[in-house]
Amino acid sequence: MGIHGCEGLVLWVGVAVDNEAQVHQTFIPKQMPVRSRDGLSVHVDGETLYDLNVWLYEKRLRLLAQVHSHGEHAYHSETDNRHSIVTTLGALSIVVPYFGNVPCSLESFAFLRLSAKGWVELSIDEIQGLIDVG
Ligand SMILES: [Zn+2]
Repeated sequence: MGIHGCEGLVLWVGVAVDNEAQVHQTFIPKQMPVRSRDGLSVHVDGETLYDLNVWLYEKRLRLLAQVHSHGEHAYHSETDNRHSIVTTLGALSIVVPYFGNVPCSLESFAFLRLSAKGWVELSIDEIQGLIDVG
């Protein structure tokens, strides 16, 4: 998507057991890039979301995180806050800057976790304590 100057979205799906969530696979939903006066975004239509939820239910998986790219620096926009696909408390939203055309470093990404008060940005220390890449 970034090659075409568009934001892209991928979902992490897996299971939650006790206090631990395990990502089993990624899922790229059918998506439509949007360019508007407010900037770039990604739209996933209701039918795709319905099919995704049926698939998750059948596989006994859940959405653990949404990862999307920005053309600029990484932050959570008002659109990101209001139209998140992931809505489970404790889930993550990760924003990748510059369409991913940057060295892969945690410092350049934005990591947010959904709390009862909304999306809360995590510090590098918090994210390093939260995610274990096996
Ligand atoms: Zn965004």
